[in-house]
Amino acid sequence: MEIYHISAECFPAAKVGGLADVVGALPKYLNRLGHSARVVIPGYDTKFTREREFEEVFSGEIKLGDLRFRYDVVKESGDSLGFALYQIRMPQLFDRPEIYGYDDDTERFTAFQIAFLDWLTETGAHPDVVHCHDHHTGLIPFMMQHCFGFGHLKMTPTMLTIHNAQYQGGFSFEKVHYLPEFDTVNSGYLEWNGAINPLAAAIKCVAKLSTVSPSYLEEMTHHANGLENLLRFERGKSVGILNGIDTELWNPATDTMLTSHYDAERVRSGKASNKKALCKEFGLDENLPVFSFIGRLVYEKGAELLPEVARRVLTEFKGKANLFILGSGDSAVEEHLRALSHFHREYYNVYIGYNEQLAHLVYAGSDFLLMPSRVEPCGLNQMYALRYGTVPIVRRTGGLRDTVVDMGDGGFGICHDQTSVEDVLWSVNRALQLFADDASFDAIRRGGMQIDHSWNSVAAQYLEEYLNLKK
Ligand code: ADP
Repeated sequence: MEIYHISAECFPAAKVGGLADVVGALPKYLNRLGHSARVVIPGYDTKFTREREFEEVFSGEIKLGDLRFRYDVVKESGDSLGFALYQIRMPQLFDRPEIYGYDDDTERFTAFQIAFLDWLTETGAHPDVVHCHDHHTGLIPFMMQHCFGFGHLKMTPTMLTIHNAQYQGGFSFEKVHYLPEFDTVNSGYLEWNGAINPLAAAIKCVAKLSTVSPSYLEEMTHHANGLENLLRFERGKSVGILNGIDTELWNPATDTMLTSHYDAERVRSGKASNKKALCKEFGLDENLPVFSFIGRLVYEKGAELLPEVARRVLTEFKGKANLFILGSGDSAVEEHLRALSHFHREYYNVYIGYNEQLAHLVYAGSDFLLMPSRVEPCGLNQMYALRYGTVPIVRRTGGLRDTVVDMGDGGFGICHDQTSVEDVLWSVNRALQLFADDASFDAIRRGGMQIDHSWNSVAAQYLEEYLNLKK
């Protein structure tokens, strides 16, 4: 089968969060099952784009309302990622370092989607499935079915994976002329609450809808930033497939970003050596447990709790625990976390920013990972933590509910029910008791490391969905 994944992110070419990890791994595993999966992303000005070699495969021009944009499609030479990676280069729109956050994001991603379909049309490509990811590619199913210029793709099956329903990419109908010509009788497919809503349009138009965990599939019908009723209506064509993790990239026995390698047998010594390096770099006490947080500092992750959690851990459990935070996002939270490091120099530190290499060391060198998320469609951090022998402390929600079982119920994590400072502190207290019991702590860490969250079986589930679409 020929499957086109179209996305705003793909690791290692362009990453903001879990979307990149998924799109950078699933196609590799689909190819290993004997299929041809490719990925198409915009050509951002990232280190990857500058350093890798690409070959040009197509050039064209599209209209976005009254504007015209030239585009080049390039393919990464040698398919070093385990799949063909295409970039659509549109210098005026994407030749910038960041992936999102510009005032013209609507124009950028609409133009990207039109260029993708123009390329398929001009080259007469007939994929077996077009698989879209999140709202940045949500207009594609509509355009394939309703825009006159893309008629040859009308019958091509489409799938959408929702990685996060909070973000929907909505914009005003005043910009509807950006889309290539279609019969306006079909405008309703684009509309939600009086605006064009790319995520809603995709939910309505795709043949198959998936999200990244079974629990999130249920939760979305109650909490999806206004799309609950639509998701309830489309429940029949929806499925929840838990993400995998790339166990080749995320393997403490071979991870080149670590100070020392280890497997489940050597969990104690291996982690101790990485912990030493982490503590040395950030002025923490290697004899005490290290609690960490990695991620976007946003409301969905419960990030605004972190300053108060830090303050209370550092006073109520003074001299008993370290806390380390790696992340960026809300500037008030960033500022607060930074300020705390001036008062608590001994057992606390924070790194504001994005740092892939440091993230690997933090997973390996920490004892516990905090995830007090309000919304967590799947969450990858807890799976990386388990794989690296770090005990996840999670709020029971979405994919966290599906992947972390509390140690009191025979699992390898610590779970709480509320996104609240009290619940996190209660879990920290349980974690300290576990830490004090060497044998139990090692058994829990080893157990977590042995859970199989690899992509092999997950890719087979996606394949089954694609095959059903072709029937
Ligand atoms: P989301 O996609 O909602 O941000 P996920 O748990 O699905 O959350 O994926 C987060 C991914 O981003 C993980 O690979 C995590 O290690 C990585 N990550 C998040 N913030 C940072 C950061 N500041 N530095 C390095 N890696 C980060």
